[in-house]
Amino acid sequence: MMNPHPSDTHDPIRWDREHLWHPYTSAVAPLPVYGVRRCEGVRIELEDGRRLIDGMSSWWCAVHGYNHPRLNAAVERQLAEMSHVMFGGLTHRPAVELGQKLLAMVPGSKLSDGDPQKPEFVFFADSGSVAVEVAMKMALQWQQAQGHLQKREFITIRGGYHGDTWHAMSVCDPEGGMHALWQGRLAVQHFVPRPPVSFHEAWNPEALQPVREAFEQLGDRLAGFILEPVVQGAGGMWFYHPEYLRGVAQLCREYGILLVADEIATGFGRTGRLFACEWAGVVPDILCVGKALTGGYMTMAAVVATARVARGIDGPFMHGPTFMGNPLACAVANESLAMLAEMNLPERIRGIEAILTEELAPLRELIPAGAVRDVRVLGAIGVVEMARPVEMARIQAAFVQEGIWIRPFGRLIYTMPPYVIDEADLRALCRALVRVVRAEAACR
Ligand code: PMP
Repeated sequence: MMNPHPSDTHDPIRWDREHLWHPYTSAVAPLPVYGVRRCEGVRIELEDGRRLIDGMSSWWCAVHGYNHPRLNAAVERQLAEMSHVMFGGLTHRPAVELGQKLLAMVPGSKLSDGDPQKPEFVFFADSGSVAVEVAMKMALQWQQAQGHLQKREFITIRGGYHGDTWHAMSVCDPEGGMHALWQGRLAVQHFVPRPPVSFHEAWNPEALQPVREAFEQLGDRLAGFILEPVVQGAGGMWFYHPEYLRGVAQLCREYGILLVADEIATGFGRTGRLFACEWAGVVPDILCVGKALTGGYMTMAAVVATARVARGIDGPFMHGPTFMGNPLACAVANESLAMLAEMNLPERIRGIEAILTEELAPLRELIPAGAVRDVRVLGAIGVVEMARPVEMARIQAAFVQEGIWIRPFGRLIYTMPPYVIDEADLRALCRALVRVVRAEAACR
């Protein structure tokens, strides 16, 4: 049948609206999208010429800003050699270098050789969700190889988010839309409450009681505990106490449950430590990284396993994506990691944290009146939690009008700017955000 609404192929925004799905949108009634012409540094330039200060780092990725000459050059150098070659039976320097760099920087890298908890093996995946699938498979295969045939289920904390593929969805917050939609079809996993003690509160060991009870009851069936260390991202932007993570790691050891740390969002400095596990001095059994790994240039993720896990899987590990270890992605990741190593990352993140804290503080005044529920900052992440969900299309337009790119979800308005943002841009970003939130609060 002919399309009843023939598309105008000369109007890309209109064609997009009629034929392209965007994240979490409907084909029938999509939210508006803005055309982007180019990006440079922390600026996103729209097709109509407006230039927005980027407050999202393209969902935690573009930590060095856009169109960076060093990252561009790394891609171009690699392009001249090969953009891709299969990883089955072949290898290449960019992959080896990236493996070496990762193993030298992840939590536990300073443990002595021969320590079973030392990270030893890297699996390159093609996206964060796939890395989570790989990590979960790894945990299952390891338990099976140990003869723990009953240990086939996972436990996690409420308020988490681990991706959109099948098993990643099964460990996302069960109250979220995805679970509701797939009820009865997703693998059934186990959930403990969201860690009740926030990052900045005094620690209370009672917070671990639900984990202890769950392990007591289910320990024999649990292969792994998957969590986002210290910062829960897309499931609620919640910062919890590092002691909770330390306690979970300890309990996992006692009950023979593998700890899978999903640092896809938190990795590479975002929380103020290179990896969020460092806040608790925890070395996970399996670690997932992604997002900022390539500085936001292309899709790539990695799963790092300790010696105990990697060597404990007898026989092949059964996964092997077509674009595994893509040389272009490895090359740009190597350059991005070199740039992170050269910048004084902790100091830079502390600087961003101080400005976010200062500039967002005025929004705390709106808490008593009820429109804003909480304002919180950790590292280079600033969050304004509203009392009610925002109206996306309207608030998005308001941010663009103010010259900033902020993409809220639900009740959460948040920013995680590129690490390279300068003070003037960061203050301008925050002040525009504050104006929009104030207007939003006033019209409720
Ligand atoms: N885990 C976490 C903690 C994430 O934040 C995300 C992405 N938002 C994912 C997994 C999934 O990554 P991807 O979108 O690359 O599949």
